[in-house]
Amino acid sequence: MRDRLKEAFGDRVSFSPSVLEAHGRDEGYPEVRPVDAVVFAESAEDVKRLLALANELDFAVIPFGAGTSIEGHLIPVKKPTVSLDLSRMNQILEVRPEDFLAVVEPGVTREELNRRLRPHGLFFPVDPGANATLGGMAATNASGTTTVRYGGMRANVLALEAVMADGERVRFGRPVRKTSAGYDLKDLLIGSEGTLGVITRLYLKLHPLPAYVHALRVFFPTIEDAAGAAYALMGAGLPVARLELVDDQALRAVNQYLKKDYPERPALFIEFHSSTEAALTAEREVAEELIKDFGPLELAAAATPEEQKSQWEARHQAYWALVHRFPNRKYAITDTAVPLSRFPELIAYAKEQMEALGLEGSILGHVGDGNFHTIVAVREEDYPRAETYVERLVERALELEGTISGEHGVGLRKKKYMEKEHGPALSWMRKLKAAFDPRGILNPGKVLP
Ligand SMILES: Cc1cc2nc3c(=O)[nH]c(=O)nc-3n(C[C@H](O)[C@H](O)[C@H](O)COP(=O)(O)OP(=O)(O)OC[C@H]3O[C@@H](n4cnc5c(N)ncnc54)[C@H](O)[C@@H]3O)c2cc1C
Repeated sequence: MRDRLKEAFGDRVSFSPSVLEAHGRDEGYPEVRPVDAVVFAESAEDVKRLLALANELDFAVIPFGAGTSIEGHLIPVKKPTVSLDLSRMNQILEVRPEDFLAVVEPGVTREELNRRLRPHGLFFPVDPGANATLGGMAATNASGTTTVRYGGMRANVLALEAVMADGERVRFGRPVRKTSAGYDLKDLLIGSEGTLGVITRLYLKLHPLPAYVHALRVFFPTIEDAAGAAYALMGAGLPVARLELVDDQALRAVNQYLKKDYPERPALFIEFHSSTEAALTAEREVAEELIKDFGPLELAAAATPEEQKSQWEARHQAYWALVHRFPNRKYAITDTAVPLSRFPELIAYAKEQMEALGLEGSILGHVGDGNFHTIVAVREEDYPRAETYVERLVERALELEGTISGEHGVGLRKKKYMEKEHGPALSWMRKLKAAFDPRGILNPGKVLP
């Protein structure tokens, strides 16, 4: 395999131990397993060439974007494994402001795309905290703080091109706002975690930068009050652009890590986007009125763009702040999402169980979508207790008609819950995998138990 890879890819293949290790880990899975080789693709032709070799020599291929996933998506589990690094396929091929459309290669990062879109008065809204690649974001159906208003990847990828397991290059979907033409295989590829095809091009829906933005932080006596207020805002149908819960533990970590002085109380971080100042003022006033019922302790506006940036930086850095606060620990992260009316109940349960099991950590997330994370930081010997915690939370979320993963995906770690969530639908997923990848070359051992 080694000689054939060298022959096909020259200096675009690496066997350096540090490179192999860097591609056999992610940002959350508590284990590293080096891959056998890393190929740095520079074109869809490289992807095709690698898949032809994989078919011939029977090795596994794991597509790799920025490596920021957290559920073990990138960890090799079967056969010799080649990591297919797509970060060099990083060209923004086209920006068409008149169609609110960008065409990009999969290795473009969301921050780079937004830098390039700003002069056009446009942006791409999906923002997982990390600076992920658009290919990786599509493969995990990523979402983020603005999803409550603009949707996640499925809503914002209009079409895509992929190289399939047999080496065929196929475009799924058309770059249009709507279509009823046939089965939606584009949305099947989105969220497939590199198990059905390698995404080599994306047609993205862009949005105008909002003319008026207002950001708020509201601090509450308890996390239950904060969750109740969030549901009241959603229940009133307010068009919030961001609605995030950050608990007291996360704010303590953020204060230490970023040298901030936020009150260490459960908080909602909120943002409104509007095309007129009058509409913005009206929305903000309604929100402030609704929040009053939940005993807010303090309400702070982030008036300038710099303050707004700082507020969202604090939110996005909360995970790293927690890692900094609890160094040398293992982390268990939940990602449940439940119907909107159920999330206050699940949040109360998450807090109660964390205390009952004597665990340290934090609750935060995208409560406007009924999706939140608990990040539990434990010493090695306590990891089984963290797993018990995750299990209990997942069970309760499923009882509440929720899902095990709102946005991070399944990877290796959440496979064991798939049967419980999907029941007989799982066998249809297995049939799909067999149809798309009969030889089990693409990221085998992930998603399906
Ligand atoms: C601090 C932090 C905060 C985060 N917050 C969020 C959040 O708010 N929302 C959210 O959704 N996620 C979040 N994540 C998780 C992560 O950022 C996302 O899952 C992201 O979409 C992964 O993108 P990536 O480029 O890093 O992909 P990788 O980690 O490299 O890969 C992820 C998966 O996609 C597959 N893949 C990658 N590229 C391709 C391709 N071109 N074709 C086919 N398959 C491919 C891989 O095989 C793998 O299965 C967070 C992670 C961290 C560390």
